[in-house]
Amino acid sequence: MILILQADTDKNGGDFRQLMDHLSNMKNIKTRIHDEVGAQQTLTEVYLVGDTATLQIEDMENLPCVERVVRVSEEYRVLGRHQDDNRPTHFEYNGVRFGQDNLNIFAGLCAVDNPQHVEMMMQALQERGLPCTRMGAYKPRTNPYSFQGHGKSCLTWVFELAGKFDIKVIAMEVTHDSHVREIHEALEVTGHPTGVLLQVGTRNTQNFELLKVIGREPDFPVLLKRGFGITLEESLNAAEYLASEGNRRVVFGLRGMKTNMGDPHRNFVDFSHVPVVKRLTRMPVCIDPSHSVGSRDETPCGILDVFHVTAQGVIAGANMILVDFHPVPGKALVDGPQALRMDELDYFLEDVRIAREAYEQRVALAAAHRKQQASAA
Ligand code: PEP
Ligand code: MN
Repeated sequence: MILILQADTDKNGGDFRQLMDHLSNMKNIKTRIHDEVGAQQTLTEVYLVGDTATLQIEDMENLPCVERVVRVSEEYRVLGRHQDDNRPTHFEYNGVRFGQDNLNIFAGLCAVDNPQHVEMMMQALQERGLPCTRMGAYKPRTNPYSFQGHGKSCLTWVFELAGKFDIKVIAMEVTHDSHVREIHEALEVTGHPTGVLLQVGTRNTQNFELLKVIGREPDFPVLLKRGFGITLEESLNAAEYLASEGNRRVVFGLRGMKTNMGDPHRNFVDFSHVPVVKRLTRMPVCIDPSHSVGSRDETPCGILDVFHVTAQGVIAGANMILVDFHPVPGKALVDGPQALRMDELDYFLEDVRIAREAYEQRVALAAAHRKQQASAA
């Protein structure tokens, strides 16, 4: 059960103390306080964990400071959608809105290689007014002898270039808590020219210790990729690990499942789960067409498979696209065969625009249909 307190409740005030005294006297119930700090106001939520089934909503609503009470199901307590739950489905980070109602495009390099390529990528994004990118510094690789990413050594120049080209958010995978510290330090020494969306990759979706560390991280939002060999439910529970530790600024990423059933794609594309995740949780949903498809294969109609699956995710309401581009794919150190070329960027954006518009038309059509049904009833 969640008690949503009145906006700007004073935690040093008598009413709040009275509320907490009351809660602490309840048997078999533990409390956890969470502050949602918004631009206008701070919302405090008190999570009641334990034996809450017998508690009456009306009784709890009569307690001091309490504005509203939400009874949550056991699953996905923080990130889930519950009955009568109108908590927000978006967050802002470094001026960028991440919500279930909008779409951000993170085109960029799978792996940072050299300043020239990073600069070419970022400049192209700036010219098109795109404030986000992907830049891999730490690359978890299947083969220990493959390039593992430049790691810490590239962070300062990548962040400085981001500042130069007005990039507000970089999606960057981390696989260890030391990487989070290194990113913190590099942002600090460069004077915070950009922001970082910490990416937890599919190989680490259930690395619970990493999730707990990132969950306690107050500064960065997270893109959690779905685990490629586990159920959706297990991956959503992994997201809840982040939130249960306090970090609820989580985007959930679909990137395909590892099974030969998806051949010839690198992974079995799972973008039909975009609306499912939006129904079960309040997280914005990202699709990664590059790691799903894994090639530049093309259909007879002249459209690349990467474009097709992107459109499939976007027309179903995806909120973020993480997509590999490279100025010279043949020279990319990681995943060159799936990268799109810079001269395909405008074409890609236009194709996405068409799919997004179609999604918006579908939402309007559904609303009109519901209205018609309601008036006929
Ligand atoms: C990536 O986005 O670079 C990546 C390695 O993705 P995934 O974890 O989905 O394989
Ligand atoms: Mn990759």
